[in-house]
Amino acid sequence: MLVVMKKDASEQEKTGVMQKLTQSGLAGHVSEGIERTVIGVVGQTYPELRDTLELLPGVDEVIPISKPYKLSSREFQPKDTTIKVGDAFLGSDELMIIAGPCAVETEKQVVETAKAIKAAGANVLRGGAFKPSTSPYQFRGLGKEGLEILAMARAETGLPFITEVLTPQDVELVAEYADVLQIGARNMQNFILLDEVGKVRKPVMLKRGMSATIQEWLLSAEYILSQGNRQLLLCERGIRTFETYTRNTLDISAIPIIKKLSHLPIIGDPSHGTGKWYLVAPLALAAVAAGADGLMIEVHPNPDEALKDGAQSLTFENFEQLMQQVAPVAASVGRRMPARSEEAIDL
Ligand code: PEP
Ligand code: MN
Repeated sequence: MLVVMKKDASEQEKTGVMQKLTQSGLAGHVSEGIERTVIGVVGQTYPELRDTLELLPGVDEVIPISKPYKLSSREFQPKDTTIKVGDAFLGSDELMIIAGPCAVETEKQVVETAKAIKAAGANVLRGGAFKPSTSPYQFRGLGKEGLEILAMARAETGLPFITEVLTPQDVELVAEYADVLQIGARNMQNFILLDEVGKVRKPVMLKRGMSATIQEWLLSAEYILSQGNRQLLLCERGIRTFETYTRNTLDISAIPIIKKLSHLPIIGDPSHGTGKWYLVAPLALAAVAAGADGLMIEVHPNPDEALKDGAQSLTFENFEQLMQQVAPVAASVGRRMPARSEEAIDL
């Protein structure tokens, strides 16, 4: 249920609605738009509540919503969410291009990669310090040392970075270093972790679980939003299907579906979405054409020697080429490539 306040509703009238909700054992989440304020009702609602709320002073209308997710829905917030990360401005017509190695291995590897992706026009660095691994024998990341390396690369290049947080206990540490916290596919339904990152006041990128429906994904987003963190972006990284040729099947249709259902920005990840480096560029183009707000691309100085995800990682040269290919597709759907930092406009 959504309570739409009148344009000229006073603070007192908004507080009145919130008090009524509390008295009824419910909670309200306020979204202050330019045009109007909407209060999302959270909890078990009942039909008579609509009439009760509609009679309160300052209330314009009460809209029942049947979808189980509310705060992430377009009904709750018709306007796209905007998020600023360094010079990158998600939700504007400029794409956010995140690039970097799957895992942080050495300082040299990360700094070299950061310089190369920046030169090619990316505006956010990625790299895993805490790595989820299907096999316990695979590289599991450098942990805190990895965060320090990412921070060094940021200091050298000015690029903000995104990195994954695996456990609720690590949220504080990762949030100390990172500009954006990543929740990986395997943790999309780790509800305790979602609660924790919901309390952080830094952007969070929620990747789609490999077997998650769009509704389940948005319900996970709801966990983070309902803890008060509204700086949330989604990432389509491919789902598991019967096809084994590719690592996953990048669900391109999820991009316009999310745009329709939600106000949250969405990033396409053709690296995990395909698992093969030569499929990354074509699927990156498809994601941008379908309306993605950005891309996440794995790049490594020497993919053959990467400790993780080498087969899907691009060389510097291939990444540069991908960026050149994306530009005209972006322009054809009314988007711009990231502004170079020297010319970045403060929006
Ligand atoms: C990653 O981004 O390196 C990663 C582990 O992704 P996912 O959680 O989508 O598998
Ligand atoms: Mn990876």
